[in-house]
Amino acid sequence: MIGRMIHRTNFAQLLRAAMVAAMVGAVLIAASFLTAPLAAADPPSPPADIRESPADLLDRLLRARRFDEAQRLMQRRMDDGDRDPVLLYNSACALAQLGQLQAAEKRLLECVKAGFRDFDAMEADDDLEPVRASHTYEAIMEARTAIDARAPSAVAPRPRRKSSVPDPVAQWKSDHPEEYRSDKGYRYDHGEEGNGGENLVYATFLDEASHARMKRMLDELATHLRRAYFGKPPEDIVLVAIVRPADAKKYLERPEVRGMYLHSARRLVSRDAGQSLQHEFVHLLHFAQMERTGQRHPIWVQEGLASLYEDYEFRADGSVEFHPNIRFNIARRQVVSKTAKHWDQLFALSGEAFMQDAERLYPEVRSIFEFFAREKKLEEFYRQLCNTATTDPDGSSAVEKAFGEPLARVEDRWSKWMIERGAIDDSIDQNDASLGITVDDAGDGVRIRSFVLKSAAKAAGLRVGDVIFEVGGAPVRNRDEMQLAVARLVISTPVEVKFRRDERELTLPVSPRALGR
Ligand SMILES: [Zn+2]
Repeated sequence: MIGRMIHRTNFAQLLRAAMVAAMVGAVLIAASFLTAPLAAADPPSPPADIRESPADLLDRLLRARRFDEAQRLMQRRMDDGDRDPVLLYNSACALAQLGQLQAAEKRLLECVKAGFRDFDAMEADDDLEPVRASHTYEAIMEARTAIDARAPSAVAPRPRRKSSVPDPVAQWKSDHPEEYRSDKGYRYDHGEEGNGGENLVYATFLDEASHARMKRMLDELATHLRRAYFGKPPEDIVLVAIVRPADAKKYLERPEVRGMYLHSARRLVSRDAGQSLQHEFVHLLHFAQMERTGQRHPIWVQEGLASLYEDYEFRADGSVEFHPNIRFNIARRQVVSKTAKHWDQLFALSGEAFMQDAERLYPEVRSIFEFFAREKKLEEFYRQLCNTATTDPDGSSAVEKAFGEPLARVEDRWSKWMIERGAIDDSIDQNDASLGITVDDAGDGVRIRSFVLKSAAKAAGLRVGDVIFEVGGAPVRNRDEMQLAVARLVISTPVEVKFRRDERELTLPVSPRALGR
């Protein structure tokens, strides 16, 4: 029962915003963006951030032990003539658990007749306990030897729980058999032990220090997310891969797709250790919880929460602060021009409809979650959502319960807050502070490609090829983060720039200069 559930971060809109705003080195960067193939002629975002196939749905219902709904789905397939032995077997289990014992016995016999041969699994399966004492069950077990002799195990379908969960690590290792080297292979590791982190397996091409930094970040994030929303760690092994640029094409369809979580494969792939990794990592833990509880939260919640964690910071007291990112101004413009989608319509969107309008909706849902967090209602909202998921499929009553107000009133306060807050400074103008460099993404930072005339970074001793990963205490893992870090600089106020040169990590103070001087 391996199905398809896809989560994808599409940062096309961020990149386009970055084009408009120009970047780090302003003029030169802007020019290089225009020649880059990624954003200029980008088609509208395709649907399919999340899809649930009928097989995925059935698998989820069975795992959540929602046998009533699962049985109805299976009955429909059997009515259509499907005689798949595992389907019949699972149906027998569901019927047994629903107390329909005669039907369960009949179905059990049918599954054996259809070719089900995994009697060991049958004997070990607690779900069949209610029919264990029946004549049919005994007869099947007595006939087992004869059946085994007639039908060799080659045709035996495997039982459900084992077969439904892939092993993403074995798959990855067989696809990438090379030993880790600076130019090849992957470095493997797993999350914090004793805390469920063993089930998170990391595969990255980062050097040792960057890898350790990434791991610390994810461990800390996982602890927070589990405490705030998701509870238990994933039950299955999940792979988290920071993919080599050469392998990116295989896992991420297009250059502007920065990351993807594919739940059916238990695999997260990200191009860098920054925003997209954080975004997809929220999906990963969220999916584990939804699967455990048999819930499926609306797309605006899934994407809103994931987007929220693209930019956050833990304060000394352990609480979390969310920073506006490039999406904020996009959302704010929509609110100001009254083109933002109304919450009642937004909440009801299917995953497919959401993705068709992704460029508008990602910024909006992130701003909604920023608002929830600001109002200190985020965790309460999520708790309400989990409590009412079956009666409140679009999440609107969870919002009303958390805020104690009608939805329209909360929405109204959100739009006022958006307007009052004002646009964030994400652009770089002629007289803004600048480091005077052009950069490329480098997985866990940005690599200096060239210097502009009278470059502050060059004057401070940085070189072409250095990989910057921190500016003024703020992590810089990609060009978007570099843009925001540079927007915060003040002319002539020195800032510490951390970077990697060959295998060493170095720090230099850089005194930003006015752009264009
Ligand atoms: Zn997403």
